[in-house]
Amino acid sequence: MTVGFIEEHEITDGVGLCKMSAVHCNGKVILIGYDYGITLFITEELYQQIENDDISDDLLFKLIQHGLAYAPEKNEILYPSKDVCPSFFILELTNKCNFGCTYCFRDHAAAHESFANADSIDRTVKVISEYCRKRGKHSVNVQPWGGEPLLNLDGIVRIYEDFAKENIKCNITIMTNASLITEKTAETLRRINADVGISIDGPEFIHNEQRPYYNGKASFSDTVRGIENLKKAGFAGSLGTISVITKKSVHKVSEIIRYIALELGISSIKLNIVRSSPDVSLSENEIALYCKSMLQTLIELYNEGHTVVEGNVRNRLMNLIDRSNTNICDSFGCCGGYKMISVDMNGNIFPCERTDDVSQKFGSICDGKDIQDIVQDALKKHPYFTKKYSPECDNCPWWSYCQGGCTTAAQYYGSEKGCVDKLTCTLNRTLYPMLAELLLTQPDVAEILVGGKSDR
Ligand code: SF4
Ligand code: SF4
Repeated sequence: MTVGFIEEHEITDGVGLCKMSAVHCNGKVILIGYDYGITLFITEELYQQIENDDISDDLLFKLIQHGLAYAPEKNEILYPSKDVCPSFFILELTNKCNFGCTYCFRDHAAAHESFANADSIDRTVKVISEYCRKRGKHSVNVQPWGGEPLLNLDGIVRIYEDFAKENIKCNITIMTNASLITEKTAETLRRINADVGISIDGPEFIHNEQRPYYNGKASFSDTVRGIENLKKAGFAGSLGTISVITKKSVHKVSEIIRYIALELGISSIKLNIVRSSPDVSLSENEIALYCKSMLQTLIELYNEGHTVVEGNVRNRLMNLIDRSNTNICDSFGCCGGYKMISVDMNGNIFPCERTDDVSQKFGSICDGKDIQDIVQDALKKHPYFTKKYSPECDNCPWWSYCQGGCTTAAQYYGSEKGCVDKLTCTLNRTLYPMLAELLLTQPDVAEILVGGKSDR
């Protein structure tokens, strides 16, 4: 596989090509627009027309449609854009957690434990409902956030019921360690139609090492019991998992995927690379190993008759196939603030739940302002929205999807304002070429790997 780059240039009389990359493999080419990330799959033969600046009308029309060429006539094509219109709300319900995961970045010391009370929940729901009503939205996506959010199950139910009183359908997504899920809790989650994701790091020996209870006790059997209770309550088939891959587990990626898919029977998974500190981050070689083992295992499972969808692979394939990925973190770079806001227990507003340092807040639910106006104001002055860039981004095929990666990771680990998130950069520059090759050599397999549900 080879990757070429085409600079924007005029061909004739106001007609020209936009900046784009060309990925060549197996006699086929994927053209990837730099600005919009829309792709066009063509043959090498057609590509020669582009190479020679001698483009047929048919091909030119297609290129314009895909944001890969321009012409003087004003066209009405709407290209994808990053607009401010939050539709996903993370609401903090407690900072307490009963687990002490080895990679956790939050301070769960008992002295700082607190819970969102009924008044703060009611107030937040009112402001979000008002925001929705003004825009004619009848539903909203909410993720209760912790700590372990199920430590405040009453708060979760209250959010759901408060929105119902406002005549707004609340789609609740919960990420939980599952240890607190009794049969009764599972039924409650079913009643409020929650979409439940489980944090589980793999089979027993890996999970217990990375995700013990806060007091050090093993948690695996309680997590698995919680999953069983969810299945009994009717969640089988809709559960998803997130597993954190560390230096210790990166050599076990295949085992982790096979355990979750074949032993637990869960086919919607996500393997996230650890982010808690630069010291435990994976090296470039380890990231390459993670990508290779993950993709290889998904393909092997497909060949064995099991369809398993992994979120990082799925979202990136969707970007490349038809730009239909809408994920907050990897469709148009970081869309924290644009598509999502996070509200802490005191009503402070952040662009993302990972920026929970109060110095990073850009407003409050109590300000009496419309949420969109709060974000628009923040866009002009808040450092979170500084464009991230490295000289390598200039000719990077994945720019439109990546845009410098995760903002909090970049700010946390970067030495200067506006630097890129190196982990996501390495991940994208490793995984995207593998996925582009898969699309050009085994499109039927690639199609299968984009099934399943989206995380956020
Ligand atoms: S951060 Fe890396 S992967 Fe992302 S656009 Fe820049 S060079 Fe490409
Ligand atoms: S800061 Fe990172 S985790 Fe938060 S929305 Fe942006 S990309 Fe996603």
